[in-house]
Amino acid sequence: MNSIELKSRAKINLSIDVLGKRPDGYHLVEMIMQTIDLFDIIKIFSLDEDKIIISSNSKEIPTDSSNIVYKAANLIKKEFDIKKGIEIYIDKNIPVAAGMAGGSSNAAAILVGLSKLWDLNLSNDELKKLGLKLGADVPFCIEGEASLAENIGEKLTNIDGLSEDVFILVCKPELFVSTKEVYEAVDSKVIEKRPDNKLLIQLLKENNIELLSKNMYNVLESVTKEKYPVIDEIKNTMIDNKALGAMMSGSGPTVFGLYSNKDDAEKCKKILLENFKQVYLVKSHKKGVEING
Ligand code: ATP
Repeated sequence: MNSIELKSRAKINLSIDVLGKRPDGYHLVEMIMQTIDLFDIIKIFSLDEDKIIISSNSKEIPTDSSNIVYKAANLIKKEFDIKKGIEIYIDKNIPVAAGMAGGSSNAAAILVGLSKLWDLNLSNDELKKLGLKLGADVPFCIEGEASLAENIGEKLTNIDGLSEDVFILVCKPELFVSTKEVYEAVDSKVIEKRPDNKLLIQLLKENNIELLSKNMYNVLESVTKEKYPVIDEIKNTMIDNKALGAMMSGSGPTVFGLYSNKDDAEKCKKILLENFKQVYLVKSHKKGVEING
């Protein structure tokens, strides 16, 4: 095998709670993660020469060793003492620095892809262990579907996710949010409201999308919103246009709304596209990373 192509899917959060901070700076969280069918395509080609070359259609991501896919490839090379090289092409569709784990998902795809390309036959658990060295969200991206993520986000419990009859409208405003700054701001304030994750997990099990939509909660949202009121504008547009509920994903600035009616979702998508470029109507998906073909 000389090349491999993978789908690398984004996630949204149906809840985020921050419980504390470890001495090493990582935050202790309790959050519900859901894979959605919005993906980048990752192409990996074998090279005889021992080097890692990256290119992309996106100008928003680096193509040098600071790209997380470089770090993922280098990790596998070092871990298994592999002297071969690769060329990686990232066809970016997932909004960058958006709270949708785009980078983490790409890293997950490289680990899965190289395990196959180089016949390493790594198990899911081995892949997730390696992934954690690259970022707290990488194990979830390898696992996919829906999980309650605890500790620093790597302790995953598989749960029922959003059913495929739910329409997920995603809108990313054009502004840059620093995840680090959002978490720092959360540290310096008292969290007055938190999500009830047990309830949300039960509502997902019952496929009670109406109540789920009303109970989704992200403790990071109020912090990001203070600086960027456009997040509330998007939420209000979704709610005014019949979304069952709307919330910010991750540390933002992406906002998503849940719909049970496709026409309502399509109508709101059109309205949002008048003011925002990155608007997508998608569904949930079971696989975070998928080998094409
Ligand atoms: P996460 O939840 O994993 O933090 P995010 O959606 O908040 O994801 P990313 O899209 O992963 O954020 O981007 C975060 C930063 O990482 C950006 O500044 C981006 O330039 C950089 N980056 C490096 N490699 C990648 C990559 N392959 N894809 C996206 N961003 C990357």
